[in-house]
Amino acid sequence: MVFENSDKALLSTSALINMATTTFEGFGTAAIHVGQEPEKWDMHQVVPPISLSTTYKQGNPGEPKGHDYSRAGNPTRDVLQENIAALEDGLYYVLQENIAALEDGLYCRVFASGLATTMSMVNVLKVGDHVICSDDVYGGTQRYLRKVSAPHHGIEVTFVDLTNLDEVKKAFRPNTKMIWLESPSNPLLKVVDIAEVSQLAKQYNQEIIVVVDNTFMSPYFQRPLNLGADVVVHSITKYINGHSDVVMGAAITNDEKLDQHLFFMQLAVGAVPSAFDCYLVNRGIKTLHLRMKTHMENAMAVSKWLEENARVERVLYPQLESHPQHKIHMKQARGMSGMLSFYLRGGLEESRKFLSNLKIFILAESLGGYESLAELPSVMTHASVPAEDRAALGITDNLIRLSVGCEDKEDLIADLDQALKAAIPKL
Ligand SMILES: *Cc1c(COP(=O)(O)O)cnc(C)c1O
Repeated sequence: MVFENSDKALLSTSALINMATTTFEGFGTAAIHVGQEPEKWDMHQVVPPISLSTTYKQGNPGEPKGHDYSRAGNPTRDVLQENIAALEDGLYYVLQENIAALEDGLYCRVFASGLATTMSMVNVLKVGDHVICSDDVYGGTQRYLRKVSAPHHGIEVTFVDLTNLDEVKKAFRPNTKMIWLESPSNPLLKVVDIAEVSQLAKQYNQEIIVVVDNTFMSPYFQRPLNLGADVVVHSITKYINGHSDVVMGAAITNDEKLDQHLFFMQLAVGAVPSAFDCYLVNRGIKTLHLRMKTHMENAMAVSKWLEENARVERVLYPQLESHPQHKIHMKQARGMSGMLSFYLRGGLEESRKFLSNLKIFILAESLGGYESLAELPSVMTHASVPAEDRAALGITDNLIRLSVGCEDKEDLIADLDQALKAAIPKL
């Protein structure tokens, strides 16, 4: 779909939602070509070179040709930023104009990790500002807000169940400056109505910055900027790179002032990724659309099989009709990645047995790579969430989280079957 930024403002929320559920035309073409133009380079290289130089020769003092120092900017990083910016807002007509995603007012900045991105984004707040955050947000985001922003930077933080719009309305304060959410969330796959929450925030105060962590979806399945969010953040470590060999993050916005803040954080705080890592991610993105299709196909098959299994209490996957916010998910996304959770019939012992018996799924933290992973959130990824909060949220010892990879789905199901039978021999 081709549209100008100025047209977007005229579209009503419902029109935006309809747009979001149609297929994102040209995604694969953009992933493969935007920012990669051979004409940029001296020998018209088809694959962008890895530019390792930390510094650049100047013609006259203070007159660099492009960049002056690699913390502030680097050609390999530029390529990656242009590419990701195009994917998150679907401004694919940039192809006709030989890039220039930046001229169209859509910006991406990459950082040394997802959390470095979070830090750089949250640093836009000042002492005394208030942030509303979803109550089951990624553990590291929660820890940053609780243990760094609040005590060290004087930021007020409230954690709220953002699936409950009445709770959201009650949480706003005159000093609220940011709302931070994930949809679907981790590990409970709760779905927040991004358009509704964005609209509530803007109604309360136009200045509230709506940030959506889109890590679980990738731009292939969900475009929060088109639903009213101001900034999208990603842990690139997960689906966007997709090969479990780079730690990196990105923030995408079409607000020039916010982009200038993010650029200033790259320059002044300096949590920037290396040129080599930028090269790897730019390469990983070339198959993002292929991988996401397979992740969804496999996760659909696995979740349906688990739902029928007597050794399983409940499956959480937003594409399933049984999911409590299935309708909201379908309204704002065009599919779902390989992330799903389920409760097995048992407790800590059964969970441990199940995980130690898996042969294809690897027992490990993280997600979004081509390989399937399984983990126990209560003991692993979410161990830092206070025990009473975990219990209240439903992160119990029989909750298993899967990152369904791109292997053959029949093999994945067979693996789950034998491990479940080993863990729960008798029903
Ligand atoms: C992993 C993750 C992060 C943090 O990213 P890092 O690259 O590990 O720093 C943030 N949000 C979500 C949803 C994540 O899964």
